Amino acid sequence: MPRLSEVIAALENLWPAERAESWDAVGTVVGDPGQEVSRVLFAVDPVQEIVEEAVKLGADLLVTHHPLYLRGTTTVAATTFKGRVVHTLIKNDIALLVAHTNADTADPGVSDALAGALDLRVVGPLVPDPSDGEGRRGLGRVCELDHPVTVRELAARAAARLPATAQGIRVAGDPEALVRTVAVSGGSGDSLFEQVRAAGVDAFLTADLRHHPASEFMAAGAPRPLALLDAAHWATEWPWCELAATQLDEISDRRGWDLRVHVSRTVTDPWTAHVASDATSSSTGAPN
Ligand SMILES: [Zn+2]
Repeated sequence: MPRLSEVIAALENLWPAERAESWDAVGTVVGDPGQEVSRVLFAVDPVQEIVEEAVKLGADLLVTHHPLYLRGTTTVAATTFKGRVVHTLIKNDIALLVAHTNADTADPGVSDALAGALDLRVVGPLVPDPSDGEGRRGLGRVCELDHPVTVRELAARAAARLPATAQGIRVAGDPEALVRTVAVSGGSGDSLFEQVRAAGVDAFLTADLRHHPASEFMAAGAPRPLALLDAAHWATEWPWCELAATQLDEISDRRGWDLRVHVSRTVTDPWTAHVASDATSSSTGAPN
């Protein structure tokens, strides 16, 4: 049975901490390097619900995409929700490892997993990492479709293939426009609009798009109209958990570790319901 230090070293080889953004907080949050690891759980969010799932599962290591603490803290008292997470982890001998922006830019990374879930063929990164001579690492991915589909069909595919959330998929642009190339970025992607336009793709699929950036992006139009597809943040990053679990499974097989690797299916998207506006009143333009 491997020690935590060995498992973490293998995972940090996939997502080296020094490739994380300077503002990020990745790596080991909780854990004794000498403890043995037999069961690992992957999830997007290090929230209490997920930690309790790890306890029930008998996991020794929880790997999440989002950091527990992004900024410093002066307390891990169990009266705070993050402190309670820390207490539950330590009391149950569960380590916590975070792979965030270092997993975003990895090859393969978060956006490769998103593209894979939608059967999109990755051409390359949307924002290449200049330190990667091979040009494979970086933020977001530019992808091609084997057969062109309409924006509506692509949104339907995303709704069907990504895990179900209350939000579903929001679309900006002509739903009948044809899509041959698409940029994807797991998580909040509205800082990438300029690169999306420069990539000359037909559509951009990401999450957390806000009114002003989206509205200005659509109004700018040129050189040609583009469609925006906005999914739930959690849903765009969840496919990475499956990819990462497969990567750890392969490492475990190669090294004879016999790890049990699991992916949490608990929906930790904060939005729990969605009510569509009444189609009749909106088509007549009547205020409601
Ligand atoms: Zn995220």
